[in-house]
Order: sequence, then C-alpha cells, then structure tokens
Amino acid sequence: MRYHSTRDRSVSVSSAQAITQGISKEGGLFVPESIPPLTKEELAALVDQPYVQRAAAVLSKYLTDFTPQEVQECAALAYTKERFRSPEIAPLRSLEDGVEILELWHGPTCAFKDMALQILPHLMRVSAGKTAGGKTIIILVATSGDTGKAALEGFRDAPNTRILVFYPQDGVSPMQKLQMTTQEGENVAVCAIRGNFDDAQSGVKEIFTDPEVAARLEKNGMMFSSANSINWGRLVPQIVYYVSAYCDLLKKGSVTMGEPINVVVPTGNFGNILAAYYAREMGLPIAKLICASNENRVLTDFIETGVYDRNRAFHTTTSPSMDILISSNLERLLYALSGQDDEEIRRLMESLKTEGRYTVSDTMHEQIRRLFAAGSCDDRRTAQTIREVYEKFGYLLDTHTAVAAAVYKDYRRTTGDATPTVIVSTANPYKFSSAVLAAVSGPSDAGEFEKVDLLHQATGCEVPAPLADLRGKAPRFTQVCNRADMRQAVYDLLHINA
Ligand SMILES: *Cc1c(COP(=O)(O)O)cnc(C)c1O
Repeated sequence: MRYHSTRDRSVSVSSAQAITQGISKEGGLFVPESIPPLTKEELAALVDQPYVQRAAAVLSKYLTDFTPQEVQECAALAYTKERFRSPEIAPLRSLEDGVEILELWHGPTCAFKDMALQILPHLMRVSAGKTAGGKTIIILVATSGDTGKAALEGFRDAPNTRILVFYPQDGVSPMQKLQMTTQEGENVAVCAIRGNFDDAQSGVKEIFTDPEVAARLEKNGMMFSSANSINWGRLVPQIVYYVSAYCDLLKKGSVTMGEPINVVVPTGNFGNILAAYYAREMGLPIAKLICASNENRVLTDFIETGVYDRNRAFHTTTSPSMDILISSNLERLLYALSGQDDEEIRRLMESLKTEGRYTVSDTMHEQIRRLFAAGSCDDRRTAQTIREVYEKFGYLLDTHTAVAAAVYKDYRRTTGDATPTVIVSTANPYKFSSAVLAAVSGPSDAGEFEKVDLLHQATGCEVPAPLADLRGKAPRFTQVCNRADMRQAVYDLLHINA
C-alpha cells in the first residue's frame, strides 16, 4: 500500500514515511492509494476477538510496510488495561432501543483523542526506525484542547522525541488547560497562543512547511512530525473503533451481519467522521454518516449547499473541541470523491486560502449528500439535551456528545429513518464540568473542582481518576505568545537559535 498526497498524486510514499513526515512537502495530506476491503468473513472472525486483535487486523491492511509482529506489538502496547479504564477499550452503551453510545473516552486523558494518540507514538517509533535515520523527531501540535493533552500523554518521555503543543489561550476549558499546563515529562513543552484554534493550526501548518525552519532543524539533527489528525497515523487507528462497534453490535445481537447502521459523529476537524467514511468504504455496513456541528456550522452548511465558506463569525461554545472553521481532513474526502483529482484539490485549497471559500462541483455535492447528513446545535440546545438525556435515561453526556445527540434527534424526526444508530461519545462529562453542571442543575460560580464535586453529588457519576488527580496541581507551563511569534517560540523551546 502506497500513499499519495492530496495535492500531488505523483507523490508515492510508504506508510512509515507518511507517518514520520506527517504532511506532504507541498502542503497536501497523505492518503492511501486505495481503500482495502474488509470482507464479511474477516469481520465475522473479529466478533469474538478483543480490541487489540481488531486493531491489528484493521491496521495491518494499511500499514503494509510494517511486519505483522510490529503492528501487533504497537496495538498491544497501546490498548492496555493500565492505560484504559474499560476492558473493552471502546465500550458500547445502550441508550434506548436501536440507539447505542460508543464511549471513546476511557483512555488516560478522558477524551477520544487517546484512541489514536496512545498508539501513534508506537507507530511513529517503528516508522522512524524505518525512515528517519536517527534524527530526533519533533512533534508539533496545534490543539483545540483534547489533542494537546492526549499527544503530551502519549509522547511523554518517548525516546528520540520532543513534543511542543500550542493551544488558544481562551479557547479551551479550564480542565483542558490544567491538564496541559501540568504535564509531566522531560521532553514536553506547552505554549498558549493569543488567538483561536484556527490561528494555532494555521501557524503550526506554516512552520511545518517553512523551508527555513526545516533547514534549521536538519542542521540540529531534528525533523518535524505531526500528531494532529492531518497525520495518517492518527486517522488509521480511528477506523478501528467503528469496526469494533459493529462487532459488538453483532455480538449483542443488535444487528445481523450486513445490516446497516447509521453513525452520528460530533465533528470539528473532520478526522473522526472521515475514519467512519473509510470504514464504510472498506465495506463496513454504514448507511448514513451524520455530521454534527455546534454553532460553528461551517460543515453543516457545506454538506447542505456544496459551498465551504469560512468567512463568518467564530463562536466560542461549550463544546470547544469543535470550535473550528477550517476542517483540515475534509481535503481527504474531497480527494477521494473527486476520483483522486489532485489538480481539483489544489484549486479548491488555493481558493480556501485566498478567498476563504470554495464550491465543489454538482457531482461531488450529490455524492456528499448521498453519504452524509448534517445538522448543528447551539449551546442552549446542547444544555437542554444533556438535561433531557440525563432525566430520561440516567446517562450523563458531555457537551460534544450532546451536540451529536441533538442533531440525531432532529435527523430522526425529519427523516423517520429508524436504522440502528451509534452515537459517538467523544469526552467524559467531567472534562466540561462547568457546562454539564449548568445543564443538569443550573449555573454555578464555584471553582472548577467544586463544580466537579457538585456534578458528582448531583448525578453520582464516577469522576475519572486522571481528572480527580489534577486537583491542587501547580501549572508548569505558563508561556503565552502571539501567532506571529510561534516560529521563534519553536526555536526557543528547542534551543536552536542558530
Ligand atoms: C477533537 C474532538 C472532537 C472533534 O473531532 P474531529 O476529529 O476533529 O472532528 C469532538 N469532540 C471532542 C471531545 C474532541 O476532543
């Protein structure tokens, strides 16, 4: 299996190269040359297997330059009972008849990013061994909150690796900020940016593709890689949990082999839902991919109209990990749907860069409408959904998952589509205690950890140990910098001012 760049189809690299490099030189994203099929027989064989085996089966179809032992070892090191608080790793919980919640937040940082970022450092180590020639890998991350912590936790003290994380100063929850600023490890650094997530993300992307920075790193025996969902090594582990969820539905007898399901995904950068699309292309029986957005409904509008337009107000919401106006991974979908037309992708991305918008062809828009449904939900409705679901089912949703639940409710009402449905749950509710508490029992001006206590008193839901343990911990990283000074900050943090 070779990987092309979405902006230059003639680029052809191995998966190890795609993973160590992160992004292609001309700014395109690495994509597999074709989607490997997963047959019904293969799927059936995974039903009684644990998560590690399901992961190894899916990953080995994409990482063909890894040996089967390497893939197996990476999966086994990542999805352990020391690191995940659920033996199933990604358990399904029945909400009501025909509606299941896929809980992806039992990893060390209590959000779904762990599903990929616990394994990425292992994939990176094996990949670097094949391609990086002994250089120190510098992981540069822009985060809307959850990726940063999950990447720090995944890469902390990984050999031959350093990790630098940039986050929007006022764009993350207090718990997310505390998780990052208290991070332990000898090879980590964290820096706040005056700006929003898109500023942090485009800043990181520029540094990545800046030849002067690359030369400076090279001189110092270093090279960049990325732990953002633009890295193929982030996406491929996300395909696994859709396959795993279907296996669990089969196991429970909730579906029969081949019976279609819908999936609802709370979406920001389009990584999670893109993994569901790849699972579908592999042959997993997914009917509709339902894309849920908060008030930053750029994707909802895109799916409805075929026009992607980021020229609009940016909203800071109670689901900050979805406060995004440039969904990077959409580029991979467009590449696939255009029949790998790199020229067309270059044109669209150039238009996004210069005009802040692009329009896809009618044929492409029709395909998108056939595959996807979309909806959005504001903060008030998010809170109302948390309260309703809690009162009706005794199940506590976080704000992001609540956006998905609300969008699904609308979808179900307007279409009457009663296909068995999996709602993807991306964070533990205590990560967003303030908004969840306000939804359940009204606003409070208590401190962050008092809110955790109040939410616990109100619901009895267990507080995950990694969040409880942050109480009283002093921040280690307090640096704030301007968007324009990010490059200098990278030099300073790496001590490479020459
Ligand atoms: C990152 C994140 C999302 C958005 O996922 P994408 O892959 O960027 O679409 C949703 N919810 C939570 C809690 C997240 O951390």
